Amino acid sequence: MKKKPILTLNQVKEIEKTYPTPFHIYDEKAIRENARALKKAFSWNQGYREYFAVKATPNPFILQLLQEEGCGVDCSSMTELMLSEALGFHDDDIMFSSNVTPVEEYKKAAELGAYINLDDYTHIDYLADNAGIPETICCRYNPGGVFELGTDIMDNPGDAKYGFTKDQMIDGYQKLMKLGAKNFGIHAFIASNTVSNEYYPTLAGILFELAVELKEKTGANITFINLSGGIGIPYTPDKEPNDIAVIGEGVRKQFEKILVPAGMGDVAIFTELGRFMLGPYANLVTKCIHQKHIYKEYVGLNTCACDLMRPAMYGAYHHITVLGKEDAPCDCKYDVTGSLCENNDKFAVDRMLPKVDIGDYLVIHDTGAHGYSMGYNYNGKLKSPELLLKEDGTVQMIRRGETAKDYFSTFDFCDILKDIKY
Ligand SMILES: *Cc1c(COP(=O)(O)O)cnc(C)c1O
Repeated sequence: MKKKPILTLNQVKEIEKTYPTPFHIYDEKAIRENARALKKAFSWNQGYREYFAVKATPNPFILQLLQEEGCGVDCSSMTELMLSEALGFHDDDIMFSSNVTPVEEYKKAAELGAYINLDDYTHIDYLADNAGIPETICCRYNPGGVFELGTDIMDNPGDAKYGFTKDQMIDGYQKLMKLGAKNFGIHAFIASNTVSNEYYPTLAGILFELAVELKEKTGANITFINLSGGIGIPYTPDKEPNDIAVIGEGVRKQFEKILVPAGMGDVAIFTELGRFMLGPYANLVTKCIHQKHIYKEYVGLNTCACDLMRPAMYGAYHHITVLGKEDAPCDCKYDVTGSLCENNDKFAVDRMLPKVDIGDYLVIHDTGAHGYSMGYNYNGKLKSPELLLKEDGTVQMIRRGETAKDYFSTFDFCDILKDIKY
């Protein structure tokens, strides 16, 4: 599917008068429409709720949009809990799905009344000793082995650090009941960025069968099943996006087939999507400031991996559009790079693009999830602002760019840098 930038060349030129590139821009209308489509796809389930994975886009303005669309939040750290609390999320608005969890974080989650999702059997005692076992508790399941859809190996849960084994789930539920837990959830996240309408229904089948087995073996009252994240987006233009209505219907069929006959038709389905909720709905808008011609052809941008780390970290593909040259032939091969002293700071390698000139605006697509949030300050590079294209067409700054003062602020306990002029 042809990827369309959020902004036209003229819009970028206009916005640059107030907010110079580089910046991330989010599309409010598209975010809301997608959130509504998700809700509709699962509207057959009474207690359905999406808990947005805060780590994907930890911006309070974005979280507020999703809150207005009825979403809760999925947190996994102290600051994510603090951010959510400040926005008024509380009790069953919050899912706390962490791992290797510090005690203060369990305490904070308990204080907020969040659903606590335990990552490990040993965390039962850890939680009991430090924050107490709440009436409703969730355990994260790891089926081990490899996860296949048809003949494709999608991911490798056996190598993943998360979750309880099957036997630990059974023992764990029994132990938690002895410690006073009354209601239970099941959670699993076993494949990431799946571009397939089969992932959720297949996962649902596994978890629904586990739920029936756990109920039979332990007598636990299972009230929700959290399908977690993992619904992906097509980063490359040759792939078709997932169809959330088909996915919701696939999960419903499994629900009717497995849970309803077991007398478990009142179980609520939760999701904890990050990438699917935001990924496609932001662009990183940049400008070409240098070109070099050595053994390869290079296009140098006014940004770097501090604003988008996925290509450097995973070799991830992000589509690039040269604004104003949308219909020009892609007959030049470039490495599109940032300015870090790290050779992996490349947004694209051997990418066919229209001929790029200095001063051209290059739009990097699909930066709405795990984009800004994953950036880092290596080389002392400062992160760009985040902007929101509102439904009425206006642009609002939703996070300012970092300044040198921000970067040096962790030395404010002493006066060694007091002579820096900002
Ligand atoms: C990262 C994460 C998610 C969101 O994953 P996406 O691939 O962005 O949908 C959900 N739940 C947990 C526990 C996570 O760690």
